[in-house]
Amino acid sequence: MGRFAPSPTGPLHLGSLTAAVGSYLEARSRGGRWLLRIEDIDPPREVAGADTLIMRQLEQHGLDWDGPVRYQSSRLERYREIADQLSAQCCAYRCSCTRARLKQLPSVSYDGHCLRQPPPDAAAAALRLRVGPDSRCEFDDLYLGRQRQDVAEQCGDFVIWRRDGLVSYQLAVVVDDFEQGVNLVVRGADLLDNSGRQIALQRQLNYPTPRYGHLPLVVDERGNKLSKQNHAACLVAGSESQSLLFALRQLGLQPPAELTGARPAALLDWAQQNWRPPIGLAHHH
Ligand code: GLU
Ligand code: ZN
Repeated sequence: MGRFAPSPTGPLHLGSLTAAVGSYLEARSRGGRWLLRIEDIDPPREVAGADTLIMRQLEQHGLDWDGPVRYQSSRLERYREIADQLSAQCCAYRCSCTRARLKQLPSVSYDGHCLRQPPPDAAAAALRLRVGPDSRCEFDDLYLGRQRQDVAEQCGDFVIWRRDGLVSYQLAVVVDDFEQGVNLVVRGADLLDNSGRQIALQRQLNYPTPRYGHLPLVVDERGNKLSKQNHAACLVAGSESQSLLFALRQLGLQPPAELTGARPAALLDWAQQNWRPPIGLAHHH
């Protein structure tokens, strides 16, 4: 079972559309289901109405999801339960370090200060997962091959509940992927760094680790990453077929000429039957 899990920070652009298409094709070509989850756990970054816009864009590009859409904002109690459980098992501890203190640390990984010196009960505090010395995570990425990440080295004990009261992306994504039965996580390579932390959390919670596939990032003619700020990356209503063709080419597929201008559903049908994992793709133009 696969999923697409956008944050509602704005409409889809060519980059996020390509990630959605890759995730859809990987799941569907295996005969799997494909879920849609709106990751609305960071209100300051969200844009009102972006969720419905994203859904409409997915539909217009023929990307039909299975079952009801899940909103992470409706799951906060569940995340809190899991966080409390981790605290009770001493796998997590409160941290009241300010951003200023964290900035001064000699290394990028947290120094464990608040584990040795717990903050007073009344202090505003984040919750950090204890990762311990054996925090090396290895996994076989579907597209990038063998990956090794060392969480202790990368960030050390990391935040699973923020000091400002918001759940962290890491905790929410791990709990939902598990509870929704997702065993295939396909997303953009910009999220690759998070996998080690997510695997560390899965181990603490006794969850199986899904298969991961990190898709090559979409780049423009100059090799720059496409971003939301980049006007050229906008999806234009009425140009769904062209956008989809662009996404398929970015993923290394070459639809035959007679499919140029075809309906999205026809393009996706072809793509599903001709899906090959985008391995070793370099984007030279
Ligand atoms: N919500 C995250 C984002 O849009 C992606 C989560 C994921 O696919 O793991 O960046
Ligand atoms: Zn601290």
